[in-house]
Order: sequence, then structure tokens, then C-alpha cells
Amino acid sequence: FVESQWLPFKAAIDSHLHKTWSATSIINGAAIDEYKVDGQVNKLEAHTVRAPWNHDVIAGEVVYANADLAQQATLAAVAGQAAWQAQSAAKRAAILRKIADLYEENYAELMALCQVEAGKTMQDSIDEIKEAVDFCRFYADEAERLDEVVHEFTDLSGKPARQVYKARGTFVCISPWNFPLAIYTGQIVAALAAGNTVVAKPAEQTSLIAHFGAQLMYQAGVPVEALQLVIGAGEVGGALTAADNIAGVIFTGSTQTAQRINQSLNSHAQSSGELPILIAETGGQNAMIVDSTALPEQVVKDAVLSAFGSAGQRCSACRILCVQEEMADDLIELLQGNMAELSVGNPLYAATDVGPVIDADAKNGLEAHIDRMRAEPTATILAQTPMSVSSVVSQEKSTFVLPTAIEVKSIDVIGGEHFGPILHVLRYQARDLNKLIDAINSTGFGLTLGIHSRIENTAEHVERRVLVGNTYINRNQIGAVVNVQPFGGCGLSGTGPKAGGPHYVARLMKLDSDNQPS
Ligand code: NAP
Repeated sequence: FVESQWLPFKAAIDSHLHKTWSATSIINGAAIDEYKVDGQVNKLEAHTVRAPWNHDVIAGEVVYANADLAQQATLAAVAGQAAWQAQSAAKRAAILRKIADLYEENYAELMALCQVEAGKTMQDSIDEIKEAVDFCRFYADEAERLDEVVHEFTDLSGKPARQVYKARGTFVCISPWNFPLAIYTGQIVAALAAGNTVVAKPAEQTSLIAHFGAQLMYQAGVPVEALQLVIGAGEVGGALTAADNIAGVIFTGSTQTAQRINQSLNSHAQSSGELPILIAETGGQNAMIVDSTALPEQVVKDAVLSAFGSAGQRCSACRILCVQEEMADDLIELLQGNMAELSVGNPLYAATDVGPVIDADAKNGLEAHIDRMRAEPTATILAQTPMSVSSVVSQEKSTFVLPTAIEVKSIDVIGGEHFGPILHVLRYQARDLNKLIDAINSTGFGLTLGIHSRIENTAEHVERRVLVGNTYINRNQIGAVVNVQPFGGCGLSGTGPKAGGPHYVARLMKLDSDNQPS
């Protein structure tokens, strides 16, 4: 990491930092800040957005919609379906590529927003934009590729028949705050690439980024009927997924919410006869398994990046470092040294490695877990990185959680996914490797796995037996690249298909006879 590499970016980003942004829902192109009941106009509630690293910094104001407006947005997207679907794949792809260009042109403002609203470091902000751009360009290619696919066969009467890919209808896209531009954009552009219209519901914590992203999408040529934006919290997600005219839901978030959405879609299916599809990308309890042949310095570098990068707020993050007993003491010492070097603090500083977590709820939950582990007789706090002196803000006015490593004696004691900068360390005996694998599998999650070993047979054995979507060998386990490492889990971690892979856009379409009306 060379700090000076950021200097040219920093000036451009800084020119946006004085701004306050605003966000409303957008229905058929209109900004929604009020709503009518029985002819009476009511102002919608506005919420002040504060930077998670210093609550005195005001990022802007967000107006939340309600369940009725969510319904209106769905109706608007359904009404816009035929016109968007009638556009050629080449036209849809050109619009998606234009979104990518506009994101690149507006990188400085997008980075400023990622830093101020989501508390992202500079590196994370630039990665965020890169991934969003990659999604646009890859799914644009996919729209054109799938348009060429024709399945030819003989139908039941013996006549030649053809099937082609067609749009499904309107998708509700519910995206998380931890990738406020990348996943938000990826969901939307995949659905648009397929010829579907979209109602986007971003996480309320990052509504400003989503609103700015939507504006760039409209500027790129996405028709206002094809993309509706619903901003809100507490009531709009449920209202959108209960709408009886949607073709499906693309959701990234917790497993529990995905299960609730699934139930809602199932009960909806009974009432309307249609079966909307659910694509869910959810949480993980990701392990890195290290045997005694691994290179300790490399392991620690990869584990620290995988556990504490993005303040641990990645679904792919390493949560449990499983170390073979023979090298555990040395590795823990290296880990403590490496953690002491992390710079924790203001994400606007180029040198910052770990910024804040997203909000007070997240901070309280993570600190409660650390406190529980302190009180747990079988667990030991191994290291906790303090705040960098130059970045200290009062605890009441920020949401930092100190990067923490905790040695545990079993996976059970961890109790589920803790979505932040907490790494658990678990020693294992070589003879118990298969028991360890069984314990990892028994969590039910299956998102990422890291393996560090210089014995090919061991790496292959572990890779075959641990049930996960993405395995990374002798490297870190985060940062899947679009169209290089299609990303997504199994079990409680998601339904598939993998984002950024060859089946994603196709899943949002249906194969249908080409003489059926589109
Ligand atoms: P969450 O609470 O699970 O989801 C919040 C969103 O879901 C909000 O937009 C909310 O809108 C909506 N929602 C809540 N209940 C709903 C319902 N019954 N029907 C429809 N929508 C509903 O999200 P989170 O816990 O903050 O997200 C963090 C999780 O995301 C972590 O577990 C992380 O691992 C996972 N994640 C996974 C991936 C991946 O690719 N696998 C990537 C990033 C993050 P309302 O408030 O309006 O209801």
C-alpha cells in the first residue's frame, strides 16, 4: 500500500466532501416526498444521515416512503414491463455500458458518498465502484449473449420447435448497506439486462448512495418506467415482496430475512397461482483452515485482510481461523503483531485500514458478543487493536468496533455470524481434521472457505468436503471478481445462481417458445 497513490484521487474526492446529499423514492421519474390520503397531502418523514465515523458530520437527508407508496412503485414497474422488454438486447446492453461509463466519470462523488455515508475506506470505496462497473459491463455482455441462444428440438407432434430466452417480469431488488453501490447496481442491472423491470429497495442506511446511483442510471438511458426506487425502513420491504404481480425477488441480506421473504412469496403464490422466484445471497460462518505446512506470514496477512478488511462487514469475511496445533502459538504471535499494525479510524485518511461499522445497532451487537466472549471461561481475547491516535472521536459520536481476535475451543461457542471485525481462532489436531470439517459443515452456512496448505492432497481433501460456494487456496478469501470468480453460497448462505457468473442473468429469464408473445 503506497499512501501517495491516493493523492490524485483525494483532491477530487475532497471537492465533494462539503456537500450534503438528499434522497427520496422515485416513482415514474417523480421524487416522492409527500403522499395523499383521501385527498389530503401528507409530508413524508425525513431522516438526517450522519457519518458513522463522526456523527457531527451530516451526509444529507433521506425521505422514507411507506407501504402504500411501495405498492404504487410495484404497479408502475409492472406497467413499464412491456415497453422495456420490447427494447432489443443490444439497446439494453448499450444503456448498461453507459451506466458503467457514468459511474467511472463520477467516481469522485461516488467515493465521497461511500466514505461519508457508509464509512468505507478509500480502498474499499474504489473497489466498490470497480465492482459495480464490472457488473454493468458483464451483464451487458450477458444480455447480448443470451439473446443469441436458441434451443432447437422436436415438439410432441414431431414438428421442429425453438425456445429462446425471454424476460420474466418485474423484480423487487433488496440490497444491503455493506456493498451499497456494487450489490445494489449488480442486482438492478442483471434484472434490466434480462428485460425485466425493477423496483429497487436499498438498505435504508445507504439510501444516499443508492439515490445517486439511480440518477446516473436514468441519465444513462434507463427509462423511468423500468426502474422504480423505493427508499424506506421497517415497512416497505415486506410490502414489496407481498405484491401479487411480481415475477421474483433478488435479495442480499441475512438468512432470517431471506426465509421470511420466501414464506411471503409462497403464500402469495397460493393466492395468485403464479410462482415468483427468489434469489437470495445471505450470511456465512466462514472458516480458513491452516495446516502446519502453510507459510505463517502469508496466512496471517491473508487472515487479517479477510477478517478485518471492510471492518469485517463482508459476507465472505473470515470468521474462524482454524490452525493446526503445531503452528498455533507461532501463528497467534504473528497475528497479534500484524493486528497491532492496523490503522483504525477516520476512513477519509488514506492510511486507514479499518473504518467504523455501519450503525449503533451493529456496534452494540458486536460489542455484546465480545463481552460475552470475555466472560466465557473457554474463550480468550488474543488481541484488540486500539483506535489510531489521530482519529479518535468520542465513542458516543461514532460507531467504531475495535478489531478483535478471540481464541475459542469450539465453533458452537461462537453462536452464529457476527458481522464485523471479530476473528475467532480455533486450534485443531491433524488427526481431527475431518471432525473440524464436520463442525464447519454443521453450522449450515456455506459461503466461503480459505485453505492454507502446501500439501496438494490436503487442500483437495478439504475443498471437496467443506460445503461452500467459493473456496480460496493459499490466498485471502474476499473480493471475488465479476466473471472471474462467480460468487455465491449454498445451504443457509444462499440459493444461487452465483453473482457475476454465466447463470445469473439467465435465471432472471425463462426459456419459452419463440412464437409465444413476449
Ligand atoms: P437484513 O436485515 O436481513 O435485510 C434488511 C432489508 O430487508 C431491508 O431493506 C428491509 O426493508 C428488508 N426486509 C426486512 N424484512 C423483510 C421482509 N419480511 N420482506 C421483505 N423485505 C424485508 O440485512 P442485514 O442483516 O443488514 O444484512 C447483512 C447480512 O447480509 C449479513 O448476514 C451478510 O452476511 C449478508 N450479505 C450477504 C452477501 C452475499 O453475497 N451472500 C453480501 C452482502 C451481505 P424494510 O426495513 O423496509 O423491511
